[in-house]
Amino acid sequence: MAERVQQPPAKRLCCRPGYNPTCRQGQRAGGAACSGSGQTGSCKTQSPESLLDIAARKVAEKWPFQRVEERFERIPEPVQRRIVYWSFPRSEREICMYSSFNTGGEESGAAGENGDESRLPFRRGVALVESGCVDNVLQVGFHLSGTVREPATATEPEASYSVSISFDRCKITAVTCGCGDRDIFYCAHVVALSLQRIRRPQQARLHLPISETLLQMSRDQLQKLVQYLITVHHTEVLPTAQRLADDILSQNSQINQVHGAPDPTAGASVEDEKLLAPGRGTGAGTGEALPLARRLPWQRQAAQPPLRQGA
Ligand SMILES: [Zn+2]
Repeated sequence: MAERVQQPPAKRLCCRPGYNPTCRQGQRAGGAACSGSGQTGSCKTQSPESLLDIAARKVAEKWPFQRVEERFERIPEPVQRRIVYWSFPRSEREICMYSSFNTGGEESGAAGENGDESRLPFRRGVALVESGCVDNVLQVGFHLSGTVREPATATEPEASYSVSISFDRCKITAVTCGCGDRDIFYCAHVVALSLQRIRRPQQARLHLPISETLLQMSRDQLQKLVQYLITVHHTEVLPTAQRLADDILSQNSQINQVHGAPDPTAGASVEDEKLLAPGRGTGAGTGEALPLARRLPWQRQAAQPPLRQGA
């Protein structure tokens, strides 16, 4: 196998010291249990699906994105976009399942006792989507965000919540919502944002992982981006920005011991591969993987060195 000498661009946190880009892993991905059975029935197009879409859909179900990046030296942007596009869950049934388990908080307690299904988070989420309460749907890589408006009721004024969802191979891996919910069981707002993306994917603005966008920028553009970011959010980010700047300028700091930097929108790393496989982790016995609660890509730190093919 010919050795490539250059390191790849440092757009993503290299998960191991001494990263060797010649490590191409030929083995198949670990058989994630994305059934893909949840067709919504809204796909009644008469033109055949493109070969790119068919391939991207399959890759999005099975492969951690880092494996795709490592396997191929260069992935054209349109291909990346379709993989990112198809990586969001496609099954409303799963969204229903994980929201219906919600037993805490004000949302579902009443539903269980009174049998009032309209109070269930899933039903409320459906109602929010159908009444057009979901806005600003933005997908950056493997991260979806949006705002969900709760109309005023007799007792409560109108409220608006920021919702974000991380996902990987057609499974939701983490959610946060301005209403305070951040567990693996979804509130009505998470349901609403998910359903909006499943039912009207064309209305979500789609971008590649942020590290890809940064890669296209010149040094001046990067400086401008960082300064604007700090200006807009200086109260929140200035202490962190200064600490990171000090660390980056210090040769011995931990941040300089590894190549690259974390990207919360970059999708799954190779060591996440087994976590979504059936029979592993919390989904054991059901044949279906449960979402990985609160596990975000930037938490990848200690990784096993990958197997080298033919070594
Ligand atoms: Zn919420």
